[in-house]
Amino acid sequence: MTPQSLRRFSPVRRATREVRIGSVAVGGENPLRIQSMTNTNTLDTEATLAQIAALAQAGCEIVRLAVPSSRDAENLAQIRSRMTQIGVGVPLVADIHFSPKVALIAAEHVEKIRINPGNYADRKHFETREYSDAEYAEEVARVAEMFRPLVQRCKVLRRTLRIGTNHGSLSDRILNRFGDTPKGMVESALEFLDVCEAEQYFDVVFSMKASNPRVMIQAYRLLAECLEERAPGAPSYPFHLGVTEAGDGEDGRIKSAVGIGALLEDGIGDTIRVSLTESPIAEVPVAKFLAQRYETRWREAADLPRDPEACEIDDLNSYRRRVTQILPRATCAAVQTQEFDLGGENPIRVEISVGKIAHDVASYAKKFHSSLSQIAEVRCEGIVADVETEEEAKRALDFAQHLAQAGFAVPLAFRVTLHCDIELHADVSRWVVGVSSTSTQEELRAMHARAVSAAMPLEWHCQGSVAQIRELAERLCDLYSTSANFLVSVASSRAVPALRVLLARLRARGFADCPVVLHAPACNSADTEITRTTQGKLLDTAIDLGAMLSDGIGDAIVLDGAFEPGHALDLGYRILQAARRRISRAEFVSCPSCGRTLFDLETVTARIKSRTGHLQGVSIAIMGCVVNGLGEMADADFGYVGSGPGKINLYVGKELVLRNVDQADAVERLVELIRVHGRWIEP
Ligand code: SF4
Repeated sequence: MTPQSLRRFSPVRRATREVRIGSVAVGGENPLRIQSMTNTNTLDTEATLAQIAALAQAGCEIVRLAVPSSRDAENLAQIRSRMTQIGVGVPLVADIHFSPKVALIAAEHVEKIRINPGNYADRKHFETREYSDAEYAEEVARVAEMFRPLVQRCKVLRRTLRIGTNHGSLSDRILNRFGDTPKGMVESALEFLDVCEAEQYFDVVFSMKASNPRVMIQAYRLLAECLEERAPGAPSYPFHLGVTEAGDGEDGRIKSAVGIGALLEDGIGDTIRVSLTESPIAEVPVAKFLAQRYETRWREAADLPRDPEACEIDDLNSYRRRVTQILPRATCAAVQTQEFDLGGENPIRVEISVGKIAHDVASYAKKFHSSLSQIAEVRCEGIVADVETEEEAKRALDFAQHLAQAGFAVPLAFRVTLHCDIELHADVSRWVVGVSSTSTQEELRAMHARAVSAAMPLEWHCQGSVAQIRELAERLCDLYSTSANFLVSVASSRAVPALRVLLARLRARGFADCPVVLHAPACNSADTEITRTTQGKLLDTAIDLGAMLSDGIGDAIVLDGAFEPGHALDLGYRILQAARRRISRAEFVSCPSCGRTLFDLETVTARIKSRTGHLQGVSIAIMGCVVNGLGEMADADFGYVGSGPGKINLYVGKELVLRNVDQADAVERLVELIRVHGRWIEP
C-alpha cells in the first residue's frame, strides 16, 4: 500500500513544498489558490488590464495571460506598469506554447511561466513515427538543451515554472512510446522536471489537464504516485488542478466539479482553475466554492478513520466499473423487464427522489410527468418516495399508477425508517431503509427477516460519520451468510470516504459484489456566495456522485427534489456523461478562450450545441485557435477550430478536411460533415 492509496480513504492534504508566485504562496499549508485566465488580446493593454482588475476584484489570486509572440511578451511590461498605477498587485502567469524565446522574454516581466512539455520544443504538427532508443535519447537531450536556459533564468529571477501537460498535445516522441495516455502525460512532465532538478531549481508546479475528467484524474494521481516514489516522504511539488475545455453552463461546472472534486477528495491540489466557455469572471465563484469545500474538509480529515483494507476495494487506476451482482427483481409488475435491472453490466440507473407525495396525487403526477417530458432524450428509471404510514404508501402507489397510465411506468421504491411497520407492498421495487449507529442489531435483524419473507430487495441507507458507517457495515454483514438480496448507500457529510470505507468492509467480509446506489447529498457544503443556490447544490451533487462514478463505483444514482424533476433527471445524465459512465447526448469539448481566440466562442458554442446536442455519442471540439487547439481537441470526432479572423478549419478526427471556411457558413458545413460521415440523425 502506498501512502497515496491511504490518502484516498483519509483525505489528508498531500504534503507539498511552498512555492511563491510573487506575493502569493502556493502549496504547503497555504489555502487552495484560485486562478483564471484573461481572454483579451494581450497586446490590448487596457482591455487586458480591465479584465485582470475585474478578476482580482472577484477573488482570483493568480491571473494567466496568453503570450503567443515576442510582442505579447514585451507588452507584459506595459501591463505590469499599468497594474501598478491602478493598484492591482495580483501575480501574473505567462502561458507559452512552441516558443522558448517568448518564454525567456516573459520571464523578465511576470512571476510565473507556464510551459506545455508537449510543444515547448517540439514541432507544431503532430505526426507519429518510430523512434529508436538512441533517437529517443537524442530528442530528450535536445529538449533539455532548449529548456535549460529558461530554468536558469527563472532561478536567477526567482520565478516559478508550471510544467503544464495537456492530454492531446503530447509530443510525437511521447505518443510513440507511451501513447495518448496518463502515463505519457506523466513521463512528459517528468522529463522537464529532470532538467529543473539538475539545475537545483525546485520552484515548480505541475498540471495534468484533460477535457475528459477520468483521464485527468488518473494523470494527476499517477503523477502524485511517481513523485512520491522519486522522493519518498518528502513534501512534493504543488499541483494546479483543472479540467481543460470543460465547456459552458452546467456541463462545464459538472465536468470541473467531477474532475477537480475527485482529486480534492484525495487531498490532491494546491491551486484551481475552473475553465468555462464563459467570461473568466464567472469561473471565480465556482473555483472558490470548490476551494472552500475542501479547506474545511482537509482540516477535519485527521479525525477520519484510516482503513488499511480500503485501498484494496478496487484498482483505482484502471477505472473499470466495479463488478456487482444484478439485484433480483421484486415482484413489482413495473420492473419485470430487463430495462430496469440494476447492477451487473446494466446501465447505471437514474432515479428521482420525490419525498412525500402530496395529497393532490393526480395533479402532482401530472406536474411531475410534464417536467420530465421536457427532457426528451433521457428517461427516469426509478422513483424513490418517502413513506412512513399506510396512507403515505397508498398515495405513493397512486402516484406511480397515475404515471403508468400516462405511459410512464417506472419502478417505485419506498424510503422508510427502520421502525416502519407498514406492509411490504408487492408493487414496490425495493425498500430504502435508513440505518444509523443508533439502530440496534435486533432492529436490523427484524427488518432483514421481513424483507426475506416478502422477497423484497433492501437498500441499507447508512447514515452518519465515516466511523459510524464503518461500524454499521460490520453489523450489516453479520445479517447475511452469502452475497444476497441487498444494496448499500450512504448519507454522510463525507460521502466519498464513507462509501469507500463501507465498501472496504463489505469486501473484507465477502460481499464485494454488493450493488451500490449513490444519492445526491442533502445539504450544501461550503459557505460562499453560491452555496445557497442551486449552483451550490449542483456542484456538491456532481462531486459526491461523480467522484465515485469516475472510480467505477455506483449502479444507480438518485437525484433529489432540490431541482425540478426534469432538471434533476438531466443533471443525473450529465454527471454520468462527465464521469464517462453513460453517454446520452453529444459531447462538447470547448475551450475557455484566451488571447489567441479568433471568434466569439460563447455564441458559436451555443449555436453548435443547439444544432447538434441531440447526437448521442458524437463528440465535437470547438477551439478558439489552431495554435494549440488541434492538439488539445484530443479524441473528438469532429473539430471546429479558428484558423484566422472570420475563418474556421473543420476537422474529422485530427484530419483537416475543410480549410478557412467562412465563419457565417461554418456551423452548417460542420453539420454537413457530420451527415456525410453517417453520424447525423434528425432531432
Ligand atoms: S484553443 Fe487556442 S484560443 Fe482556445 S484556450 Fe487554447 S490557446 Fe486559447
